[in-house]
Amino acid sequence: MCGIVAYLGNREAYPILIEGLRKLEYRGYDSAGVALMQGNTIQMYKKKGRVDELDSYCASKDRHGNAGIAHTRWATHGEPNEENAHPHVSEDGTIALIHNGIIENYLSLKKGLLAEGVTFKSETDTEVLVHLIRRVQEKEQVSLPDAVMLALSMVEGTYALAILSVDDPDQLVVAKKGSPLLIGTEGNEFFVASDGAPIVGFTQDVVYLDDGDVGVLRLGQPIKIKNINDEQHLLKRPSFHKLELTLEQLEKGGFDTFMLKEIFEQPKAVRDSMRGRINLKKDVVSLGGIIEYEQKMLNAKRFIIVACGTSWHAGLVAEYIFESLVRVPVEVEYASEFRYRNPIIHEDDVLIAISQSGETADTLAAVEIGKKHGATVIGICNVVGSTLARETMAGSYTHAGPEIGVASTKAFTAQVTVLALMALSLAKKKGTISKSEYHKLISDLETIPEKISQVLEQEQHIQRIAQYVATRPNALFLGRGVNYPVALEGALKLKEISYIHAEGYPAAEIKHGPIALVDNTMPVIVIATEQETYDKVVSNVQEIIARKGTIISVVTEGDTAVKKMSKFCIEIPKTEELLTPLVASVPLQLLAYHVAVIRDCDVDKPRNLAKSVSVE
Ligand code: GLU
Repeated sequence: MCGIVAYLGNREAYPILIEGLRKLEYRGYDSAGVALMQGNTIQMYKKKGRVDELDSYCASKDRHGNAGIAHTRWATHGEPNEENAHPHVSEDGTIALIHNGIIENYLSLKKGLLAEGVTFKSETDTEVLVHLIRRVQEKEQVSLPDAVMLALSMVEGTYALAILSVDDPDQLVVAKKGSPLLIGTEGNEFFVASDGAPIVGFTQDVVYLDDGDVGVLRLGQPIKIKNINDEQHLLKRPSFHKLELTLEQLEKGGFDTFMLKEIFEQPKAVRDSMRGRINLKKDVVSLGGIIEYEQKMLNAKRFIIVACGTSWHAGLVAEYIFESLVRVPVEVEYASEFRYRNPIIHEDDVLIAISQSGETADTLAAVEIGKKHGATVIGICNVVGSTLARETMAGSYTHAGPEIGVASTKAFTAQVTVLALMALSLAKKKGTISKSEYHKLISDLETIPEKISQVLEQEQHIQRIAQYVATRPNALFLGRGVNYPVALEGALKLKEISYIHAEGYPAAEIKHGPIALVDNTMPVIVIATEQETYDKVVSNVQEIIARKGTIISVVTEGDTAVKKMSKFCIEIPKTEELLTPLVASVPLQLLAYHVAVIRDCDVDKPRNLAKSVSVE
């Protein structure tokens, strides 16, 4: 999940690289490193920890050079320390390389290289690559790009690579398989990065590499791309795209953290995700991106939703919405489990893959499995041009804008919005929803941004509740029906950013075990909004009170029963039951956020995590 950035041109590379790393730090922050081409030598600096530490360390060093590569790491192989930090260099110091991904056959390759007498300095899988490329270059007497092509044909796994060589200081070699990589060009300059953020300030013109592509960037020459799977190694024509990202979208805009900014952006994220897709006057919902495959979706015998983390929770919400409105069975699967359990998939299944970044490795693998079995594969993601967007047959973007905070917030509500639109549009065409129900739901959807704004106005109240929760070592989150995934998501938010142990459960299920944990020290956060099972939730709350648990509730405005039993209560505007998660998840995000701030946690970059999980 590391972030990589590289530059080749006529400016000083260092400031571009270091700023680029800062923008990619959400992808990992175990260590950072940079290599600069200085004349005919490679100068390298690496530091454990954050990009800021690398930058301070480099302040007294020689940072000049018009070409360089830089890396911010999320360790997969080898602990986070300086030896394991990227770049990695060949034994003779002629080649430096950065890598995002995992080399799966690194042990057997390493064995071979050790037998040939190569000395390894790190425990990483990545170091194998640099030695392998150098060995191939020496043995075959070929240029660096050819050596890279040959070496990569022996490699199994995923990679985005940028490589410098002292033999050719005006050249950068890049390669991609399974991990994202973009090349931006402007005049005589090249900018390479894991996503558009480090590039957008310099150019809007980018080339997305395909899997197996090896690109050669040379001063004064156009980009040259070949693919390792093409036996003839013919030159490919690079296809240029426009980056749909602005600098302003990447800045904190007056908020203390990206996460808080993103929580507050939700009215806009939800509105933008609906924009142009609902016509209230004509009572029509339509998603342009899936039109071509709509018939297949209407004929589907089953929907299989695959996702990871918060996106999986959005998928669970969709299960309730789809089954209720479209009346077709839905299975929601963790992509990481789905891909390895020989799933049964039929041609009349529709697989919906959800990923904020569109680069989640397990979700992409699930997409491949769906395609292999002939299912219709639809993607939902937030990043235009991402691998998911390119690898699925059709799909819909969530227009949430860039999400930088590692803990997902606005991407979740935007995903649920798009999934709700999808269900509504299919249900109407299938005739599984009444006119009045359809109208009621789309009218309510239109009001969701306003309702989220009303919840956000309660920030101070939620901050006071956070004071209490921040002192507790554990928390339970309960919900029923469509609010059960909201409970799961609330628990995930709390644990991932505040490090308080939390669990989400269907409210009735706690009788089968977790209620044993309830005593007067346990905060139990209950989503008890107006819904079919409201009375049942009231009983569940009573069971907790009887065991002296402390109730923190999220209820519909005007509620009295649950409110009376709660130590703290958050009231949210009345919302159609199936759409409640769009509103009810917001106070739980704010709660987790303020608990984490009170506990002095790094909210945007929680420990051990990274945002775009492009390794399996
Ligand atoms: N496998 C490499 C390492 O551990 C890169 C990790 C990544 O891209 O997440 O250093």
